[in-house]
Amino acid sequence: MVTPSGVPEETAVCVVGAGPVGLALAAALVDRGVPVVVLEGGDARGARPATERDDALAGTVSPGGLGALTLTRARGVGGTSRIWNTEVGGEPVAKLLALDPIDYEARPGLPHGGWPIDADAMAPWVREAAAWCGLDLRLHDTVSEGPDPLERGAYGFVPQRRFLHELPEAVAAAGATVRAGVTTTGLLLEGARVTGVRWRNATGARGTLRAGTTVLACGTLETTRVLLEAAGAGPTPWGDNPWLGRGLMEHPIDRSLVLRTRSPLLTPDPGFFSPHRAVVTRGGPPGPWRLGRLTLPADWLRAHRLPNLSVRFPTHEAGGAILQQPTARSWARRLVPGARLRRAIGDAVRWGARQTRRLQSLEYTLHIDLEQWPDRANRVELAEATDALGRRRLAVHWRWSDDDERRRQALLDELTDRLHAAGLGSVTRSAGVSLDPDGHHHAGTTRMHIDPEGGVVDADLKVHGAEGLHLCGASVFPTAGVANPTLVAMALARRLAATLAADRP
Ligand SMILES: Cc1cc2nc3c(=O)[nH]c(=O)nc-3n(C[C@H](O)[C@H](O)[C@H](O)COP(=O)(O)OP(=O)(O)OC[C@H]3O[C@@H](n4cnc5c(N)ncnc54)[C@H](O)[C@@H]3O)c2cc1C
Repeated sequence: MVTPSGVPEETAVCVVGAGPVGLALAAALVDRGVPVVVLEGGDARGARPATERDDALAGTVSPGGLGALTLTRARGVGGTSRIWNTEVGGEPVAKLLALDPIDYEARPGLPHGGWPIDADAMAPWVREAAAWCGLDLRLHDTVSEGPDPLERGAYGFVPQRRFLHELPEAVAAAGATVRAGVTTTGLLLEGARVTGVRWRNATGARGTLRAGTTVLACGTLETTRVLLEAAGAGPTPWGDNPWLGRGLMEHPIDRSLVLRTRSPLLTPDPGFFSPHRAVVTRGGPPGPWRLGRLTLPADWLRAHRLPNLSVRFPTHEAGGAILQQPTARSWARRLVPGARLRRAIGDAVRWGARQTRRLQSLEYTLHIDLEQWPDRANRVELAEATDALGRRRLAVHWRWSDDDERRRQALLDELTDRLHAAGLGSVTRSAGVSLDPDGHHHAGTTRMHIDPEGGVVDADLKVHGAEGLHLCGASVFPTAGVANPTLVAMALARRLAATLAADRP
């Protein structure tokens, strides 16, 4: 059971944060026989939290920048998954997607790019993270030749309940000690070695937990906050790192392109671009949910020195999948007794709906997720104000720079041409539609680089210059591609668990 009381005094590994990343790490550590204690500042479980009233999450954002810090994060076991806002199959879910191979590459003409791990080295960990949370990557991540000259891929979905209930219980049952309501308020430092954490709970009790290794998996902004606070309290190996708090990235959403499909025969299959169930075996039961997307070819992005993008079709406009909704299915079960007959009727209705859609000219406001290239000016700092536990609040400075805007316009030009060339229809572009900066995907600010001049952690996620301190989550992404970050962040956690287990005496 995940319980609120009794923090041990000592452990091999202390994981701070029980969001998807901390849970993925703890699960992989206990699998490898490593004793682990997870400290989570929020509560053990509960209804969807009113994060806007959570004092611990409050901070400032620069004008014209990101949305309120209380609306893009949540505390408690399950972490920010508690406020996931997409619904598929009648329950809250997140879209999961791996980075594209190009996202790991150093990119000539784009400074600060390149992961110290390449796509091939990450692939097994992405597969392991996907399997752990119940995602079948074979069905979700295949990028095939799309409506030429665009490429086509698919997002997978993972239900929120996995992170709120099923996985935390499994992690605790496997032997991890998970303590909720316990906030890490500082790091124990002996020279360059971090020997554990200082904690406080909601009743005001305080204590320390000594650990051979401490891993901060607190989400991008809070991981950086713990490091900044420690650096503010005295000399630390990371206090002077030039990238500490720098290079914050988001995935802003562009909605300025409207696609009106032209020819009935050339209309893309709207069902593919709506949440739909993958066909695993013909005639077999429906497979997992997925959602189609379009991308520009990597070779073109490389040649034109541009970051990545991903095009989604808004669900309500793409229609489709109505027959797969639970209510429609339960009515069908009541009205038509035989499963075979039901399937035949369903196939006929779906075929009819597809033909009807082909005969219509449809209009889609495209949702284009943009990769933001790292920019040192986008940063996280500590404000003077403190929260109820006496911790300094965050001040976030984020902008969409002229360079970002130039790259966005070049991507939109190319996308418009390719949508035309693919025969998908006519595209209109509204200059007046402003970019939505809140993709809810904070990344960067403790980036990974082999050299401390280029990043805060090394390729093993160990803080440069320090012993016993690792960071895990999207904060270590040197660049963030365009994929929703949770799957890759969990993959890094699984990889880190293997490294820590191998390093144990
Ligand atoms: C509305 C919304 C929709 C999203 N949709 C998607 C999506 O579709 N796909 C996707 O991939 N991502 C999505 N995200 C982002 C996703 O939620 C995050 O990438 C993911 O939760 C990050 O996991 P994490 O474990 O690193 O951090 P978090 O989930 O933020 O968890 C960190 C945990 O650490 C705890 N913590 C922090 N500081 C301390 C401390 N000092 N002491 C103790 N505990 C601490 C926090 O309380 C929290 O529980 C969405 C985010 C939002 C807000």
